[in-house]
Amino acid sequence: MIAENLKALKAQIPQGVELVAVSKFHPLENIIEAYEAGQRVFGESRPQELAEKVGQADASKCPGLEWHFIGHLQTNKLKMVLPYVSLVQSVDSVHLLQEIQKWGKANDKTVSVLLEVHIGAEETKQGFHEEEVIDLLFDSEKYPNIRFCGLMAMASHTDDESVIDADFERVDGLMAYLVDLFPELSDFNQLSIGMSDDWQIAVRHGATMVRIGTAIFGSRN
Ligand SMILES: *Cc1c(COP(=O)(O)O)cnc(C)c1O
Repeated sequence: MIAENLKALKAQIPQGVELVAVSKFHPLENIIEAYEAGQRVFGESRPQELAEKVGQADASKCPGLEWHFIGHLQTNKLKMVLPYVSLVQSVDSVHLLQEIQKWGKANDKTVSVLLEVHIGAEETKQGFHEEEVIDLLFDSEKYPNIRFCGLMAMASHTDDESVIDADFERVDGLMAYLVDLFPELSDFNQLSIGMSDDWQIAVRHGATMVRIGTAIFGSRN
């Protein structure tokens, strides 16, 4: 099933758009199955679960396997996450950014991040407001151990495609604006939008990365 799902998705997702397989709540054996079908990048949203899977996975048998962190990250969990991921997609506060900077400095590492932008209608959604992202990037030299790679966002939780369309259009516009405003941030080029139900809309609005779980692994219990 997993291999078939991946194959079907890869046939539809345009070249140049990276598929991140969201494996949260699914066991390592499912990840291995996807890996054997050619998938390399996996997204996890809980530090404990990520750390367990990293511990279980025999890295020598999975060359090239990469983890992205896509969930809310508490600053006291950085040690469980930052050593193992190639990208933190879900940086949602200045405080978190400052703590990642400290960790990077202490460990002599540069941490690649996306800034999570709040675009959906939900009050509870995490993420920066647009003006906050602009302010923060004006201060980017305060974070020498952070590589700013772009934006991540989630659309409003709705079946109304026109709302999702408007959400993604807005974040795509913000992305273009930021790329223009901050040409010195040469790595700032990733737009991670789109999940199982809305990735087609996201791709129409400039997604360079889609984060897909259910359509690959089935529903989460
Ligand atoms: C769970 C999750 C996804 C994947 O959602 P699906 O609907 O299962 O594809 C994508 N992005 C984030 C941030 C998630 O937490």
